[in-house]
Amino acid sequence: MRKVDNEVIGVIGGGQLGRMLLMQARQMNLKSVVWTGGHEAPAIEIADRVIDKPFDDVDAIMEFCQIATVATVEFENIPVKTLERVAQRIELHPSPQAVGICQNREREKTFLRQHGIPCADFDVVTNANGLAAAMERIGPGMLKTADFGYDGSGQIRVKNGDGPAEIWEQFDAPRGVYEQWIAYEREVSVMVARGANGETACYPLAENRHREQILDLTLVPAQVDDSVAQKATELARRVAEVMDYRGIMGVECFLMADGELVVNEMAPRPHNSGHYTMEACIHSQFDQQLRAVMGLPLGSTRLLSPVVMLNLLGDLWPGETEAPDWQPLFEDANATLHLYGKAKASSRRKMGHANFLGETVADAETRALKLKELWLASGQG
Ligand code: ATP
Ligand code: MG
Repeated sequence: MRKVDNEVIGVIGGGQLGRMLLMQARQMNLKSVVWTGGHEAPAIEIADRVIDKPFDDVDAIMEFCQIATVATVEFENIPVKTLERVAQRIELHPSPQAVGICQNREREKTFLRQHGIPCADFDVVTNANGLAAAMERIGPGMLKTADFGYDGSGQIRVKNGDGPAEIWEQFDAPRGVYEQWIAYEREVSVMVARGANGETACYPLAENRHREQILDLTLVPAQVDDSVAQKATELARRVAEVMDYRGIMGVECFLMADGELVVNEMAPRPHNSGHYTMEACIHSQFDQQLRAVMGLPLGSTRLLSPVVMLNLLGDLWPGETEAPDWQPLFEDANATLHLYGKAKASSRRKMGHANFLGETVADAETRALKLKELWLASGQG
């Protein structure tokens, strides 16, 4: 068994996910190094060492591998070449191959299709003619960039009667995935962890609600039939197994009115829809990630209480550097506040989140929505 206190965990990416991962690492007395990629990095306040260089910097790769004894990613948009170089020198989980699949929609959807995992029908398109053919075959849909999508960026909704030439003109990338429009009833996600020896552990099914294509609320347990929750869990577990995945992964699904599930995408890291685990489960997704990456046994994923997670986006901020009044949240004895330490708010930026534990999901939701409305009213929008 590994002696945890001799390890230095290396985190590629310095965002809030890295920050929360390192808070957990501190609790276990692990040393750490964060490689920011040169971006603003909320994780550096928690890290022992920081490498503030781009992800393709060869010196940075060497430096990172000299300091870290084991590594992970908190962000998938890292060049696969960089990940491969790291993996040649130190243990990296998840693998470069797994991150490579999840970081690119074309590879991701091709992977799902090849393994018979249900996903939206799609075609890869590289010009207006190709888009016209895809629209003809698939019908209404979404045109998405293959690389670097997040929070709905780089996506165009396509309806019946839209012109392929105009849409291609608007589309700001050389290559895209044209995906069938899914008339889903709800969006759900599963956090699945897979350990060193192939054991898996799934967290309870979460229901996700978006606001302008950004996650707004996560409600757990999702209010669906047990059979649906079980099916979603099995899907997530299968994705992790066929990918020979190690670490924690978020699997986002669309739930149809008839109870069928379609996988939308995977996140090869802790995920925003897994933040509820921080107070509502015995082991948070960050704790679980450290366990999986370090080769420790996985922890229990048991839910201790119904919970609603509210994302605190920058539009709740009264001013760029003026945070909302947290007093009403502090007055709720069963709510917790997590702020990411970002210097400036802008409307679509994830500034923090709050978890509301409740007797029921409905009770937690009512309390979360009340505070959201209050903060929205004083926010600058
Ligand atoms: P994120 O980083 O928030 O996960 P993303 O940019 O990776 O977003 P997706 O998750 O693919 O993009 O899509 C964002 C949202 O757009 C989805 O959560 C869903 O609400 C909607 N959406 C995406 N694809 C489809 C589809 N094929 N049919 C209907 N709605 C869709
Ligand atoms: Mg998504």
